[in-house]
Amino acid sequence: MPEPLTSEERLRYSRHLLIPEIGEAGQVKLKHASVLLVGSGALGSPAAMYLAAAGVGSLGLVDDDVVDVSNLQRQILHGESWVGKPKLDSAVARLKEVNPHVKVEAHPVRFTPENAMQIAAEYDLIVDGSDNFPTRFLTNDTAFFLKKPLVYGAIHRFEGQASVFAPHLGGPCYRCMLPSMPAPGSAPSCAEAGVLGVLPGIIGSLQAMEAIKLLLGTGSTPLGKLTVYEALQSSFRSLNLHRDPNCRLCGDQPEIASVTNSETTASTTCESTTISMQTITTLELRNILTDEFDGLLIDVRQPDEHAACNLPEAKLIPLSTLPAELDSLPKDQEIYVHCKAGGRSAKAVEFLMDHGFTQVTNIAGGMDAWLKEE
Ligand SMILES: [Zn+2]
Repeated sequence: MPEPLTSEERLRYSRHLLIPEIGEAGQVKLKHASVLLVGSGALGSPAAMYLAAAGVGSLGLVDDDVVDVSNLQRQILHGESWVGKPKLDSAVARLKEVNPHVKVEAHPVRFTPENAMQIAAEYDLIVDGSDNFPTRFLTNDTAFFLKKPLVYGAIHRFEGQASVFAPHLGGPCYRCMLPSMPAPGSAPSCAEAGVLGVLPGIIGSLQAMEAIKLLLGTGSTPLGKLTVYEALQSSFRSLNLHRDPNCRLCGDQPEIASVTNSETTASTTCESTTISMQTITTLELRNILTDEFDGLLIDVRQPDEHAACNLPEAKLIPLSTLPAELDSLPKDQEIYVHCKAGGRSAKAVEFLMDHGFTQVTNIAGGMDAWLKEE
């Protein structure tokens, strides 16, 4: 029998206890749950504060950074008096103030392939609040090997994304969406591109919500669903993501055997965001493929896959032959790329962007998503 709530806790969480999906049993679950937050910055701040306030019993935070005055516009865990001091000292003090019942474990180190598995093994799930690709690949790979859910979030200027990656529960991993490291320079850094301070508040709160749902076992987990929030359009969209059978981590013939690999050990000199390529859903593609369509749709699958089923508008250019076709492709036209599940087309879009194509769009979910809608 897990330790029940104290009378003080019953009072503190009374608004949770009123919700049938939580109740005393759910609140006790939260009390005995643990979450690791990688990063205590823009996304980690709201996520950690809401998880603490909600009564998640144990929170681990990994961060070796120091509070800078330029963080305060968005990293609401930290305040003026903490500038120049370690972020985790600030975070522990703030979270203790939010909820003294929560145990906060500080890991004042960088999250690296050497320590990731050991640190994360202690927790029920991982919330990714990192701001660079190698750490994102590392949290993904660590969660995969430990069979723990990864609550993903990313932000860029006015746009944010969130999802849950958990191949052991079904659905894709982060690498199914982004198969390899974007080329340096193809994704602007947070420092270069900027971010509106409220945005991580929204995305980090979505991450806290998904984490709490997972811990309670309540509602549906957005496996294979990427929530995209566009602040300027005031819109939330849901993109379908599919497990990529060619994924190097969770695919049918995986190549990656440990958290030490070329992505997780890459240098982080470029502090980049994940949102580097234009992506649309197959539903949006349907709206684009009208009689007036004057762009180019490319299918980068193999000829046998194309022969089995294809979109009549699509031109077949298998991924391996794309370099040879480069000179024949228009730079003044919109190019849309699809494959079976979205993995190979993402690679193709990256490749085209590296070669000076600016109007390139990836079709999330590929042919699989298209066929599901029919
Ligand atoms: Zn995968």
